[in-house]
Amino acid sequence: MGRMRAAAMLSYVFTVLLGSALLGSGLLLLSGCGREAVSREEYLLGTLCRITLYGNRDAGLFDDLFDRIREIEAAMSVKLPSSEVSRINRAAGDPAAGDPAAVPVSQDTMEVIRASIRYGELTRGAFDVTIGPLVELWDIGGADFRPPPETAIRGALGLVDYRLIDLPDASSLAMGKPGMRLDLGGAAKGYAADELLAILDRRGVGSALVDLGGNIYAVGCKPNGDPWRIGVQNPFDSRGAALGAMAVTDRAVVTSGPYERYSLYQGVRYHHILAPSSGRPVRNGLAGVSILAKSALAADCLSTGAFVLGLEAGLALIGELPDVEAVFVTDERDVHLTAGLVGVFELLDDSFRLACGE
Ligand code: AMP
Ligand code: MG
Repeated sequence: MGRMRAAAMLSYVFTVLLGSALLGSGLLLLSGCGREAVSREEYLLGTLCRITLYGNRDAGLFDDLFDRIREIEAAMSVKLPSSEVSRINRAAGDPAAGDPAAVPVSQDTMEVIRASIRYGELTRGAFDVTIGPLVELWDIGGADFRPPPETAIRGALGLVDYRLIDLPDASSLAMGKPGMRLDLGGAAKGYAADELLAILDRRGVGSALVDLGGNIYAVGCKPNGDPWRIGVQNPFDSRGAALGAMAVTDRAVVTSGPYERYSLYQGVRYHHILAPSSGRPVRNGLAGVSILAKSALAADCLSTGAFVLGLEAGLALIGELPDVEAVFVTDERDVHLTAGLVGVFELLDDSFRLACGE
């Protein structure tokens, strides 16, 4: 496809569709505005959350949906000292404290922790929900950023290991080591998207788009019966242009990439996805990974995990999972697809190359 057509399609995206409100999110929602589209957006879970409903004029439904996001944020945010996860982390004490005691955990938070442990196993530790000490140490995006010293990185690394989480029963948790910290930043938005889907299902809404900062859920299909078209963001373009798009029905599409949050120090970029092996921001030639799956929680854990694993191991892992597909974008602008997306994913920007037959 030539640049002209791509440019025309993108201007269509920005002018006719969801427009600038989606700038900065990992994905763009392409096409599909029925006449009766209504949307609401709020800044929650550290990102812009936007929900668009089709054929539903019940303002109370929006209140319920955003209340549910707020409830999940109130439980899972490490930015809120009052959150449940902050309380769990305080109970783990500092590294010099005694063995942490078991603390009660709500059903919501337990579900995210259990899934995170499963995806920790599946990604052989690339996804690690106990990444908290490293996230705190690096404080990517914080004021006066500077990379932490090597000794501090080594110290924090010794506290990162999801296998040490002890779940003595269905509603309690003990960290295996004093000083350990949970961070649900790589999974909570996915869980929230699944929970919104459950509410929409119960209310009989068959056509909606949920966008929680790049965690998209395409509910049902467009009001005219066509599948949604979801764009994958060009990770090098801060304006949020799409490098490609695909037809999606009843699936989550979740993207992880360095461009979502980073700090600059002496001309070097340090981003927010950290390798539990090195304790540093991942540098493996990947610019972004988008995962397509039925469960947004799975897609969220897998997008972060596959990003850490890198192109080869990430593609191999996703390729083995039934009903999960992925788009990997490299720093060299190569786009790699899993088998199920060949012929489905359409490249819109010819400064990228489709590398098929992986
Ligand atoms: P996402 O935007 O879903 O890729 O998640 C990135 C966020 O997950 C970061 O901002 C951290 O809060 C957290 N995180 C960073 N590295 C990891 C990792 N290796 N495993 C699990 N969570 C991580
Ligand atoms: Mg994630």
